[in-house]
Amino acid sequence: MSTNKEWFERALHVIPGGVDSPVRSFRSVGGTPYTVVSGAGAYVSDVEGNTYIDFVQSYGASLLGHAHPAVVERLREAAALGTTFGAPTPGEVLLAEKMTGRVPGLEQVRFVSSGTEAVMSAVRVARGVTGRDKVLKFDGCYHGHSDSLLVAGGSGVAQLGLPGSAGVTANAVADTIVAPYNVVPALDETVAAVLVEPVAANMNLVGPHATFLAQLRDECDRVGALLIFDEVITGFRLDYAGAEQFFGVTPDLYCFGKVIGGGLPVGAFGGSRAVLSVLAPAGPVYQAGTLSGNPLATAAGSEVLSRVAPADYADLSARVARFAAQLNEAIRDSGLFARVPVRGPLLGLYLSREEFEEPENFAQAQVLCDNGLYRPFFHAMLDKGIALAPGAYEILFVSLAHSDEDLDRTVEAAASAARVAAGTPVAS
Ligand SMILES: *Cc1c(COP(=O)(O)O)cnc(C)c1O
Repeated sequence: MSTNKEWFERALHVIPGGVDSPVRSFRSVGGTPYTVVSGAGAYVSDVEGNTYIDFVQSYGASLLGHAHPAVVERLREAAALGTTFGAPTPGEVLLAEKMTGRVPGLEQVRFVSSGTEAVMSAVRVARGVTGRDKVLKFDGCYHGHSDSLLVAGGSGVAQLGLPGSAGVTANAVADTIVAPYNVVPALDETVAAVLVEPVAANMNLVGPHATFLAQLRDECDRVGALLIFDEVITGFRLDYAGAEQFFGVTPDLYCFGKVIGGGLPVGAFGGSRAVLSVLAPAGPVYQAGTLSGNPLATAAGSEVLSRVAPADYADLSARVARFAAQLNEAIRDSGLFARVPVRGPLLGLYLSREEFEEPENFAQAQVLCDNGLYRPFFHAMLDKGIALAPGAYEILFVSLAHSDEDLDRTVEAAASAARVAAGTPVAS
């Protein structure tokens, strides 16, 4: 039998830091990552045979849970027909039809292979449409790891305590403006686009104020800038039709990823036909990809979307709201203060030794995420068979496969993990 430690040591030898994405390393929580061999529904199992209730769910890519039998079967069928052709396929049309059929302002989408590419391409479209250079993003929002958007990026960047990334030139970020979340910035006519996570889910969870997105829409219209919703997390997870329906605000461009690939590498960006007419081959904005619209990814994505109805989102949101309230109470009973912000089925978790308000921006979230309590809490949960993301800046992903019993077990574990964390001296 092999151990997590053995696998991670081998990984460290041949993969930088032992991981292919920094958020997976246990850098900010300490210890050795578990190496996953399989997943089924709400659970993942590691090389040592431990099984965990999984709240990572591939950082939101998995909505139905791992290895849903219908998705696996669909992939089997699709794989047998060939996995990539470099020619149009029905699968990409079918997924595009499903997406545009649900999201009111989405008339066309183009598929890419990651969320990073989706946002990068949407920004290029916005610049192409407006002929302007500047892009405004919000502090603590993550939009993938492209050079110009990694600044103040939350998530893994914040976990490692980095302001941005080495290897990104000053020129690459010269046209990026960073503003605090939940404050509508005053724009001018140099701004091509405002990029926003409609629910900020990479600085733990920060929801938008009631009027934030609508006022952002108005401010963009005032100066002729495009509003881009980065829905890589919220798309088809927050709601049946994502953030546009949830908040009643229509952006000019949408970016998707995660859920729409059903667990395979995918991304997409889209908007109205008029806006997307600038894209090559019809227009002058070039964008391309060898594996874009991949038959396996689009088959998995279509299968996932076809298996969820509006009622599933309502049901999951109600269950998550109950779970959040119980989690909050269990942690508070155990000697810590908690806030468990909820937006639809998305939930965050902040811990503190003192009473506090739900954070409204990155600066407030950061104080809480960096207070040292998540580390012992995380490990105590893992010891009890509950896998949270190994970083305080991430949220919890409850899939449709999580049962009430799974959630009850998690609440019980959280009560004892909070006692452990409360009794842990603050590391200096
Ligand atoms: C995950 C994420 C991305 C990047 O997607 P990748 O597929 O990891 O490149 C972009 N935006 C948001 C909001 C995300 O959560």
